[in-house]
This record gives sequence, structure tokens and C-alpha cells, in this order.
Amino acid sequence: MQITIVGAGLSGAVAGRTLAEAGHHVTIHDSRPHVAGNCHTERCDETGVMVHLYGPHIFHTGDAEVWDYVNRFTTFRPYRHQVKTTVQGAVYAMPIGLHTINQFFGKTFRPEEARQFIEEHEADLSITDPQSFEEQALRFVGPRLYEAFFKGYTEKQWGMSPKALPASILKRLPLRFDYNDNYFAHAFQGMPENGYTPMVEGILDHPNIDLHLGSALDAASAGTGDHLIWTGPLDAYYGGRFGALGYRTLDFERFTSTGDWQGCAVMNYGDPDVPFTRITEHKHFAPWEEHEGTVLYREVSRACEAGDIPYYPIRLTGEMAMLAQYEALAEAEENVTFLGRLGRYAYMDMDVTIRAALDVSRGLAQRFE
Ligand code: UDP
Repeated sequence: MQITIVGAGLSGAVAGRTLAEAGHHVTIHDSRPHVAGNCHTERCDETGVMVHLYGPHIFHTGDAEVWDYVNRFTTFRPYRHQVKTTVQGAVYAMPIGLHTINQFFGKTFRPEEARQFIEEHEADLSITDPQSFEEQALRFVGPRLYEAFFKGYTEKQWGMSPKALPASILKRLPLRFDYNDNYFAHAFQGMPENGYTPMVEGILDHPNIDLHLGSALDAASAGTGDHLIWTGPLDAYYGGRFGALGYRTLDFERFTSTGDWQGCAVMNYGDPDVPFTRITEHKHFAPWEEHEGTVLYREVSRACEAGDIPYYPIRLTGEMAMLAQYEALAEAEENVTFLGRLGRYAYMDMDVTIRAALDVSRGLAQRFE
């Protein structure tokens, strides 16, 4: 079979590899001059720092098979992601845990005391089935922590009130009553030693895969093979006929300095009057390396317009109705499969993206046997 894949990010690469190993001929096109999509990494010429060009990507998963899979293609180094946040003139640990609770309220609670304090004095337990981001926050942490840590940040990140956003966005973050300040709770976590791009190049390195970079394929010209895997935006495939699915894009204001500028990989800024959401210092994503210089990104989120890179699917109620229309068309396609954050219009992490690409491409390989 001749398979065409649009997009050489994680989804396209993983699906392409499965099908190539099953003996199919795979042609992959990507409009960018590099592979790895938004997890592309590149060493800065000036400082030698490995830069996550499209923002920070931390590999974490509870899926042992996915962990083994990525370790087939590159060496992962131990990396433990910790995030700090600057709000109201102080620096706290994120996600909210015992240290942050004690520091914020000026207490010395032990775990059960903190839990009791939040439940009895802060959380709004009258909210039994939180629907919005705001209700989820008020139900679990109450108004004071919500206002300080989530409200301003979320308004900047999503460009709208947390009243309008789904609770699922906040459910990405845990609330802890201990001093664990690991941002992620997954069993496996690490950083590829030489960045994500060589890892994706390794996945794509198969004699049955032809790779065409800097080569945009639209829906009309993509359908020449036996089967098409489309990892671009779902709505773009259909020419936006039901309207444009909403995304947030990011502007990165890059700056360099020397030494250690902020002391951690990610510093969030929760106050509404600070125009950016976070500053990332990329050398801290590779703590085993030493560099004199340092590269930082100030991250500003805004509505994604034509020509911008889509990052975060917004998935509001209106968009979900539109999504259902596109999905109905997608499901009826015999010879086209949609994959990835853009192809599925879903806020998926890297491991979930790989899992979906593996499952779907294995299904296709069976179907094409
Ligand atoms: N969030 C927040 N304050 C923070 C960190 C996160 O309000 O200091 C909210 C925000 O709405 C964000 C969501 O929690 O979009 C999920 O955070 P996560 O760190 O998973 O976002 P990502 O790293 O994918 O941008």
C-alpha cells in the first residue's frame, strides 16, 4: 500500500513507522523545514543551550509501552519537572501542595490539618458537580487560592473568563496535601538527551519512509495514495466549511543572558497585570549540561489567526458542536485517518499522542494486511 502522511510531528512519525514496519510505503510531507512538529528542539548557536523552539515539552507518562517505545529511539535522561509561580509579590511552588498552602496562609499545617482547613474554610462544597474551570477551582481550593493562582493566569492563557472554560483544563493539575512538588505524577518522566528532534528523526529512519520537508500538502493534493493520514487541523482538511475551530497561539519573546537567570525551568506569573503567562529558561530542561549563556522565552498567549501556529484547542461549547460536524465527516471517510492534537482537535500530551498514533496505525496495518 502507498500511505501518505501529512505532518512529521509525533503522530505522523509514529503512525508512519508502524506502517513502514508492516511493509507499506510511506510518504510524509511537512510544511516546516524540520521534523518533530511543536516538540522540535534546536541548539542555540550563541549559547549552546538546547532550545524547545515551540515552548517547553516534558516527556511524562504512565504508559510503560509508550515509555519503552520512545526509549527505543533515543536516550532519555532523568528529569523532574518542577514549576514555580510568582503571584502577589511572592514565589510559590506549583501545583498547589502543602508548601504553597502553608506559605500562602502563613500556617504550619500537617497534611490532614491542611486538608481539613481547605475543606472547612476555603472550598465551596455546595458545588457538587463542577462544570466550569471556575466552579472546579472554587469547589477544590476556594476563592482565595483560585484568585491568586488560577484566575489571572487562566484569563491570560485562554483569553476568557474561567467561568466559560471547561473544568477539564484545571483537572490537568493535582491538589496535594504533602510536600511533593513534582509537576507530574506519572511513573516515567525524562528528557531526550539530545532533544526531541533526533528522537523523531530516529522514528522516521526506516527504508520504507520517504520524508519531504518544507513541502506543504493541502487536502486536495494529499489524497493520491491508497490511504491518507492527516495530522494537520481537522477543519483545514474540510476547508473550514462549518467555521474555524478555535485555538490559542503563543508568541515567544526570546532573550538571552548569562549564568542562571531565574533558577528554574518554568516560572509562572499568575498576576493579571503581568502581560505574559510564564518564562521558561531552557538550560534547566537539560540539567546535565553546563552552559555559560542562557536562553529564555517569555510566553504570551493570544487568539490564533490565519497564518499563526495553533497550539491549544479551546474546545468551548460552540466549538464542540462544530467539532461534532467535522467529526461526522471524518468518521465517514474510508481512506483518510485523522490523528494528533490538530487532527483530533484535542488537548493531548505527547504520550497520549503516541499511544493514539500506535493504536490507530496498528489497526490500519491489520486492515491493510
Ligand atoms: N494554570 C493556572 N495557573 C498556573 C498553572 C496552570 O491557572 O500557574 C491553569 C491554566 O488554565 C492552564 C491549566 O491550568 O491552562 C493547565 O496547566 P498546564 O501546566 O497543564 O498547561 P500547559 O503546560 O499545557 O500549558
